[in-house]
Amino acid sequence: MSAIDPGTAQRLKALYGHLDGKELLEALLLGELRGRIAVTSSFGAESAVLLDLVAEVDPATPVIFLDTGELFDETVAYRVELERKLGLTNVIVVRPTAEELAEAEDLWRDDIDRCCELRKVRPLARVTRAFDALVDGRKRAHGFDRESVGSIEDGIGVIKVSPLASWSAERIEQAFIARELPRHPLVAQNYRSIGCWPCTRPVEPGQSARAGRWAGQAKTECGIHTLAFGRDGAGI
Ligand code: SF4
Repeated sequence: MSAIDPGTAQRLKALYGHLDGKELLEALLLGELRGRIAVTSSFGAESAVLLDLVAEVDPATPVIFLDTGELFDETVAYRVELERKLGLTNVIVVRPTAEELAEAEDLWRDDIDRCCELRKVRPLARVTRAFDALVDGRKRAHGFDRESVGSIEDGIGVIKVSPLASWSAERIEQAFIARELPRHPLVAQNYRSIGCWPCTRPVEPGQSARAGRWAGQAKTECGIHTLAFGRDGAGI
């Protein structure tokens, strides 16, 4: 059973729902959730902004990086670059088991939901059992299923925290410039949301950043933000 009281998310929302960005991170990373809260990051096109704010608040915050086995080489290298530059001291690399990788081998060709479950949802569910709350970089400006994302949500078994939920693409860009953050190498090739290589495409000017993910298919989320996978291990 989850250790999270069903009312915890509502209580935190009432206390801190008016905050965002660094102020929200300070309230939660250094407050009552300290030691029980982690960040999940794809080290993708926009990730550096959230990670820089996290590093300013507490560089020892656990940062979970999911290596699906199908990432771009550029993402793997960028993770190392950002980790060093920002001074993050607790990046946790999570991978599928050998059995999951064997079953998932070429599933991205014809069963993307099962592929995401094996390469992403299950491995992440195992590691997040240790935490009561997860911070992510989702923004309403991403569109699709994210248009209504809140800064603090009840993820059923885990509290979901999105400090940049209300940030626009322009505000993210300004933060990159003001903070002199390095870019993911693929941004120069018009990749604006970057996941596994078989399921990520560059986007055209004016398109949503997420339009390059599972392009041409109905799928818009891999499941790690939409399924309940807190301490009760649902979905495993
Ligand atoms: S994003 Fe694509 S390759 Fe990655 S786990 Fe999902 S279906 Fe598989």
